[in-house]
Amino acid sequence: MQQTDQIVVCGAGGFIGGALVAELRQRGFPRIRAVDRKPMAGWYQRFHDVENLVLDLQYRDNCYTALQGADVCLNLAADMGGMGFIEMNKALCMLSVLINTHLLEAARDIGVTRYFFASSACVYAGYRQNENDIPGLKEIDAYPADPEDGYGWEKLFSERMCRHFQEDFGIDCRIARFHNVYGPYGTFDGGREKAPAAICRKVINAQRSGDPTIEIWGDGEQTRSFMYIDDCVEGVLRLMDSTVREPINLGSDEMVSVNDLVSLVEDIAGTRLERRYNLGAPKGVRGRSSDNSMITRELGWAPSIPLRTGLERTFAWIEQEIRASTTVSSMVNRP
Ligand code: NAD
Repeated sequence: MQQTDQIVVCGAGGFIGGALVAELRQRGFPRIRAVDRKPMAGWYQRFHDVENLVLDLQYRDNCYTALQGADVCLNLAADMGGMGFIEMNKALCMLSVLINTHLLEAARDIGVTRYFFASSACVYAGYRQNENDIPGLKEIDAYPADPEDGYGWEKLFSERMCRHFQEDFGIDCRIARFHNVYGPYGTFDGGREKAPAAICRKVINAQRSGDPTIEIWGDGEQTRSFMYIDDCVEGVLRLMDSTVREPINLGSDEMVSVNDLVSLVEDIAGTRLERRYNLGAPKGVRGRSSDNSMITRELGWAPSIPLRTGLERTFAWIEQEIRASTTVSSMVNRP
């Protein structure tokens, strides 16, 4: 990307979009436009020195407004959340296809030179993820297709939409398949949060309330890998400056079970809780991690921030947020 480029970050009011805007500012890009459909008060990070627009990008006209004069489009906008959200809201997840489709049309007509699509590890075939202890997923493992119902199908279809806009209309596309991103300035309650943030919140609340138990979704033996937000942002920006035109994994290859994740958070908090397993709760596939051979080969780089390091920062941020919100509500409720 060139310093003179007009860069548009879609979904900039969200967790990863907000972190990308923050990093682009740090790197001195002067022409950043941040777009999200949420009212600005709900954006996780907002900066007064970038152009901020509230637009619903499911609508075609709004995509043309968002990309007016743009050179680069980073599409992070999607209706999404953790397993609890995507298993219960398949239609809403699939409607995000409108965002990517209309953005691609606008990008083609406006002459955007480089386009980024945030895909997901949920595109990977379910039949390859039936065991806890599986090798990392390689990019070719998305086919023959059997992605996560709803959310994963939308991501896989939108990947192919990018591919064909690239082949037929010459838009230079970059596609990253994110594997579980976590960190400060993300959702940690309300139903859309993912496992690392949810577990930090549960441990903090248990400590504050004196309740010695923690509820875990599933039997806790399911495995995942988790990528710290700084690695995610670095990877996206490296990918944008690369020649990689195929979808590529952007995730950690440090695979842990959910039980391991809980133990790590307990260590950070200096506590041990009694585990209650909710076997009926949404739990997703049995095992999933990222094979990083392709990213290492293509970018000479791969995510490397240890889970423990990222969790320490995330735990501290969530604890501070919970403390601040309780202070505010106790002040509001004061007679
Ligand atoms: P997020 O929910 O924090 O951010 C998404 C943002 O998109 C939200 O602020 C939301 O308001 C906005 N949005 C939704 N619909 C919109 C619309 N119609 N018009 C404009 N804005 C709209 O999620 P995130 O974690 O920052 O994820 C960013 C992207 O990365 C998404 O595409 C997501 O599917 C993908 N992804 C994330 C993860 C992860 O672990 N966080 C994993 C895989 C893929």
